[in-house]
Amino acid sequence: MARLELKGVRKSFGGTPVIHDIDLAIDEGSFTVFVGPSGCGKSTLLRMIAGLEEVSAGEIHIDGARCDHLLPSARGMAMVFQSYALYPHMSIYENLRFGLVCQKTPKAEIKPRIERAADILQIAHLLDRKPAQLSGGQSQRVAIGRAIVKEPKAFLFDEPLSNLDAELRVKMRGEIVALHRRLGSTMIYVTHDQVEAMTMADTIVVLRNGRIEQSGTPAELYARPKNQFVAGFLGSPQ
Ligand code: ADP
Ligand code: MG
Repeated sequence: MARLELKGVRKSFGGTPVIHDIDLAIDEGSFTVFVGPSGCGKSTLLRMIAGLEEVSAGEIHIDGARCDHLLPSARGMAMVFQSYALYPHMSIYENLRFGLVCQKTPKAEIKPRIERAADILQIAHLLDRKPAQLSGGQSQRVAIGRAIVKEPKAFLFDEPLSNLDAELRVKMRGEIVALHRRLGSTMIYVTHDQVEAMTMADTIVVLRNGRIEQSGTPAELYARPKNQFVAGFLGSPQ
């Protein structure tokens, strides 16, 4: 579990600012959703937290220690992508094992961790298959499993359900929330889907044009949206 802090975080691409001066504290064990329209900077912000993108200015702290200069592997976070990003030539077992070998997990721990994650996600029967032999929902479970086995301080999800059909999306939402309750880990979840944000989050951060428009619990944002944009976006009347 980790507490995260962003202080004056900015990002520009080729001189064009896309993230402006973000200050944000994310509580240990919280389920925080970054929500906002396409292009508002959700992925960029998440990728800076993960270390996949450098900050242009500002600081990121994990549990009080500055981490924005650290490589992704040294930050203790695991990211789950919309595209699953499984290795096609490896079996599911090998996909789950790969990150553990990279982070030099003691050999005796590897199999039990994979078995535990496979049990949690109900993918134990798929371990010998290759990614091409899985459905979209099964692939996304494996992608989440690959994060779980690392026992990260925080999970970072970037629109993980966008490629799934509507019915499966609703089911997986429930499973991810259940996983959060079970593990108690800090989770940051990016989506452009208002329903996902309202039903999954304990804290919602509404982003617009690279700035935080408002943050709070779903109930607070619904009852007291700061402006028309938040009200319109989260679907409450004003
Ligand atoms: P979101 O995830 O909310 O849809 P992004 O973080 O992907 O938004 O993008 C925010 C803005 O930054 C967009 O205008 C996008 O075009 C731009 N952007 C993102 N990544 C890059 C990049 N590698 N190079 C140039 N511009 C980028
Ligand atoms: Mg995105």
